[in-house]
Amino acid sequence: TDNILEVKNLKKYFDMGRGSVLKAVDNVSFSIKRGETFGLVGESGCGKSTTGRTIIRLYGATEGQVLFNGQDVHKMGGRDLRSFNRKMQMIFQDPYASLNPRMTVGDIIGEGIDIHKLMAGRQRQERIYSLLETVGLNSEHASRFPHEFSGGQRQRIGIARALAIEPEFIIADEPISALDVSIQAQVVNLMKELQEERGLTYLFIAHDLAMVKHISDRIGVMYLGSLVEVAEGNELYRKPLHPYTQALLSAIPIPDPEIERTRERIILEGDVPSPINPPSGCRFRTRCPKAMPECAQIVPELKEVEPNHHVACLLYS
Ligand code: SF4
Ligand code: MG
Repeated sequence: TDNILEVKNLKKYFDMGRGSVLKAVDNVSFSIKRGETFGLVGESGCGKSTTGRTIIRLYGATEGQVLFNGQDVHKMGGRDLRSFNRKMQMIFQDPYASLNPRMTVGDIIGEGIDIHKLMAGRQRQERIYSLLETVGLNSEHASRFPHEFSGGQRQRIGIARALAIEPEFIIADEPISALDVSIQAQVVNLMKELQEERGLTYLFIAHDLAMVKHISDRIGVMYLGSLVEVAEGNELYRKPLHPYTQALLSAIPIPDPEIERTRERIILEGDVPSPINPPSGCRFRTRCPKAMPECAQIVPELKEVEPNHHVACLLYS
């Protein structure tokens, strides 16, 4: 198999006390091929960050498996775990909160090199300088502190830190959401270049479909802890099948006024229900414009309804 990552029936529940359980991730399955970018999209609270954090072992799994290069991540120990900790890295939404304000940029980038004892002294220094140049900064920046940099530059530092120990797989949790629109494209382009040069695989998490459009090969859409649709990027934009994906796409402005004028905008009623007490059957049914009586009884499974196009909706079964 050329899958670097396989997520199988993953569940992550949080005990909220007094018998209530928050089902943040509930039976999610998908796989990512080596060298591809998988975009994971959904509104805040849908479980996309929790999915990412469970994949990289920041959280244990309640049920299900995460296989990285065929090995169960949550059963790893010893040398396998050390190797996993090197091969998978994470980039965060707010690079400022994730960069230690009292450390120099050079030491922030060098921390992983030190932890994994990859190199020291002059060699380590040269490596930090070269990483800074790789992400569009320069060697003089190594002695400065995070607060001296703009949001876009800080995200570049976060990327350099992730690259320092030569990972194979990077989870980017909303890496551009906090940045100005003009800076977002620069960071996405940098990530694409790095991917080509280094053969990286990305799980790219975002809260709207516009942000993942230019980087994702395939996209998964999440709603209330479940994956509702998975397809190649172009296919998903051209032919969204799930009513939730259709609504998300209809909210993205299209630069062509002719299309904009005739396009139907789908407004979803109500709020996202609580993941502590989700609706029976299809979790989207309380907001779905196409809901049918059986949607309250049957939990739709993610099924391949067209080649490489999976959807979890009773309209297609
Ligand atoms: Fe809507 Fe029913 Fe499909 Fe759920 S299963 S998305 S409620 S039509
Ligand atoms: Mg999040």
